Amino acid sequence: MNDTTDKTPAPLTPAAPAPRTPAAPAPRTPVTLLGAGAMGTALARAWLAAGHPVTVWNRTPARAEALAAEGATVARSAAEAVAASRLVILCLLDDDSVGAALDGAALTGRDLVNLTTGTPAQGRARAAWAEERGARFLDGGIMAVPPMIGAADSGAYVFYSGSADLFEEHAETLAVPAGTRYVGADPGFAALHDVALLSAMCGMFAGLSHAFALIGGEDIRPQDLAPLLVEWLAAMAPAAHASAAALERGDYTKDVTSNLAMQVAGTSTLVRTAEEQGVSTELLTPFWDLMARRLADGHGEEDTTGVIDLLRAR
Ligand code: NDP
Repeated sequence: MNDTTDKTPAPLTPAAPAPRTPAAPAPRTPVTLLGAGAMGTALARAWLAAGHPVTVWNRTPARAEALAAEGATVARSAAEAVAASRLVILCLLDDDSVGAALDGAALTGRDLVNLTTGTPAQGRARAAWAEERGARFLDGGIMAVPPMIGAADSGAYVFYSGSADLFEEHAETLAVPAGTRYVGADPGFAALHDVALLSAMCGMFAGLSHAFALIGGEDIRPQDLAPLLVEWLAAMAPAAHASAAALERGDYTKDVTSNLAMQVAGTSTLVRTAEEQGVSTELLTPFWDLMARRLADGHGEEDTTGVIDLLRAR
C-alpha cells in the first residue's frame, strides 16, 4: 500500500513576507538663509533641527560659525547662497540691507521670502523689484522673539503676504520655525498687520511705563502691581472687537458702555494724579487731547472709536 501522506515537515514559522525597505523619509526642502543675526540664527536652527539642508550667509562670516558646527553650509557670498537653494529666506536688519545683500545675485526662478521687518511700501516695492528679476516674492512679519522660534506651543507666528503660489508650495517648510498666517496677495499686507500689532503694543508699553512711574516711591511693590496690570489689560483688550464692529457699522454710538464725555472727564483724573505723584503727563496727554477734540466736535455719545477718524484725517 502506497503511503500518500505528505512527509514534508510543516514549516515552524509561516513564510516570512519578502523584506521591505522602510520608506525613506521625504527629502526636506533645502533652505538658504541670508542673515545670521539673533533671529536668523533661531530660524536656521529650527530648519536644521527639522532636517532641512540649510545654506547660510552672513555679512560678518564669524557670526555664522556656530551654525556651521550645527550642520549648516556656510556660503562665502550672498550670491553663492542664493544659488544653493530655490527657497531663499532673508532675515536682515532692514530693507536697505536686503537690497545690499541681493545686489548681483541671480534671482531668476528663486522663491524669495523676506522676513526682514519693513514698511508696507517697502514690501510692495521689494515685491516689484523681485518680480522684475524673475523671482517669486513673499513678505513676512515675525510675531515672536528669537527664543519662541521653533519652540512648541510658544505662540510664535509669521504674517505672510504676496505670492499665494509660493506660500502654498512652501507652506510645510515655512511652518517649521513658527505658525503661518497668510493675509493676502498684496505684498504690503504682512508688514501692515505686523506694524498694526506692534503699534498697539507700543501703546501698551507706554501705559505700563506710566503705571510703574505712578507707584514709584510709594509703598507698593512693582511685583505686586504687575499681575494686576496683566489681568486688567487682558480684561480691557476685547475693546478691539467693539471698535471693529463700530467701524464696520459706520456708527460709533451703538452699544456704547463708556461714552466719550465720561472718558474725557475720567482722563483728567489720570492727568491730575500724575501731577500729584510728580510723574510726567507726556504719555497721557496726546490721547486725552484727541478725545477732547472729538468731544468738542459734538461726539460725546460715542466711545473712543471716533479718535480713529481724527488720526486718519491728515
Ligand atoms: P540682528 O541685529 O541680530 O542681525 C541683523 C542682521 O542683519 C545681521 O545678520 C547683520 O549682519 C545683517 N545686516 C545688517 N546690515 C546689513 C547690510 N547692510 N548688509 C547685509 N547684512 C546686513 O537682528 P535680528 O536678527 O534680531 O533681526 C533681523 C530681522 O528680524 C529684523 O528685521 C528684525 O526687525 C526682525 N525681527 C527681530 C526680532 C527680534 O526680537 N530679534 C523680532 C521680530 C522681528 P552682520 O552680522 O554682518 O552685522
